[in-house]
Amino acid sequence: MKTAKQILGNRGEELICKYFACFKCKKRNTFKRLINNFKCADLICDFCGYLAQVKTKTVKDINSFPKTILGAAWQPQKERMDAGIYFSLILVLISESNPKNYSVYYLPAELQTKEMFKERKKLSTNAKRAGWQGFNYDGSIIKDFATRIV
Ligand SMILES: [Zn+2]
Repeated sequence: MKTAKQILGNRGEELICKYFACFKCKKRNTFKRLINNFKCADLICDFCGYLAQVKTKTVKDINSFPKTILGAAWQPQKERMDAGIYFSLILVLISESNPKNYSVYYLPAELQTKEMFKERKKLSTNAKRAGWQGFNYDGSIIKDFATRIV
């Protein structure tokens, strides 16, 4: 069984694969989804090898950039940043009232900085994944660097 969060995430990835040309080589229908547990990226262009992360969020207003976006595991993200490695981010905002309405924002890897990634508290010992630590994207910084493409 897929969780609601996974279904939403898949929806964003499917939209990008279906309707968007690769952001690097501009070819169409070349984006392929990586397996769910693949850590650093969600999509790969099977022509040029371009990698991207896709985040999908349901929002009231698709025209306003969210203050915060749930990221993923903090530890690998931190290690990557320490090594100066970033992956392009595609943010899909889906309208709460009409799921057919969506907007897409793009933040290229070369514009990313450590400040855009906010470490979250470790999960408490009672949590299912006790001790696990995630991060959020800081929308208040990212909004000035991301480009809306749809
Ligand atoms: Zn490509």
